[in-house]
Amino acid sequence: MLDAMGGRPYAALVWGEDSIDAWWWRAPARSERVDRMVISDVSPRIIFPTSSRLQEPVSTTEKEVAQRQILLFGVEGQRRIGQVTVAIVGLGGLGLHVAQQLAHLGVKKFILVDNDKIVRTNLNRCVGASHSDLGKPKVAVAARLVKTIRRRQAAEVHSVPQKLPGSAAVDALNDADVVFGCLDNDGARLVLNRVAKAYNLTYFDLASGIDAPGGRFDSAGGRVALVTPDGPCLNCMGEIDRKEAEYFLSSPTAQQEARKRGYASGWDLPKPSVVSLNGTISSMAVSEFMLGVTGLRPCEGLCVYYLSSLASPFQSATKRTVSADADCFTCSLRAVGDKAEVARMAAAH
Ligand SMILES: [Zn+2]
Repeated sequence: MLDAMGGRPYAALVWGEDSIDAWWWRAPARSERVDRMVISDVSPRIIFPTSSRLQEPVSTTEKEVAQRQILLFGVEGQRRIGQVTVAIVGLGGLGLHVAQQLAHLGVKKFILVDNDKIVRTNLNRCVGASHSDLGKPKVAVAARLVKTIRRRQAAEVHSVPQKLPGSAAVDALNDADVVFGCLDNDGARLVLNRVAKAYNLTYFDLASGIDAPGGRFDSAGGRVALVTPDGPCLNCMGEIDRKEAEYFLSSPTAQQEARKRGYASGWDLPKPSVVSLNGTISSMAVSEFMLGVTGLRPCEGLCVYYLSSLASPFQSATKRTVSADADCFTCSLRAVGDKAEVARMAAAH
């Protein structure tokens, strides 16, 4: 088979009633176990073959801690959650909520990516951060939060204090089964969207915002968008503002020029942000993750949340149907890996 494959690897699968086993070969007599398989349609369905070294039983303590949620998704659901490696890009108002909830849910393996440090104005919404953390890297605060909930020995945390598309950050994301993008601007979002398509990642993108012109509350809300290898990307969904993305990806001189000419639309001015709205959006994302990974139901492609200044309807959540755009440039980068040259493209804006 290897001769016929012209240098490409060969894999063999055995399907059982409720399990799967798989091996693969790069060269004759060099078999390797397949540790996990991701089924890339609308949901992060991850299968760990029975011979995988990642296949782990659920401990007695874990079963007791998770007793109330095992009533929802069973011991098998708990085991699946414990095996997934999750990356969180952005550990601010949204990302810290996501980290906290995933640790409670039973996720053990975390990749944390952020180059920012905690400042005083973060403390109204960064769960797990306190006044004594001022100046500390956000990834360090997130790592401590996860380890406190999970107990130190039951958490594996890889912190990357770097911004995308830095190579250490891109490499780290390649080890993740599911990525949560908790970013605060469309420039960073555009880059992560490209990375996700180029490296076949399953990626939940979170966004929240409050509209209060001149200090008068108008409306607020947010959304959770799911990008899978086979599904539409954020561009296809119309979830990236190209002008805003270009502004954030341009040089400091170009940004200054854009502000002078009035093109910047206040993108880099501090916007209203509260812990509760961030918590709602983060909870929506973690619930979708939980439903998809445990197999309770497939994930939704796009969940939207509104919080209106009008008394009725004052809060509502809904889903929107999304489809792939056949002409999308980002989607054309699917699975090309390093050939996507995400760093060069981000700099070219
Ligand atoms: Zn697309």
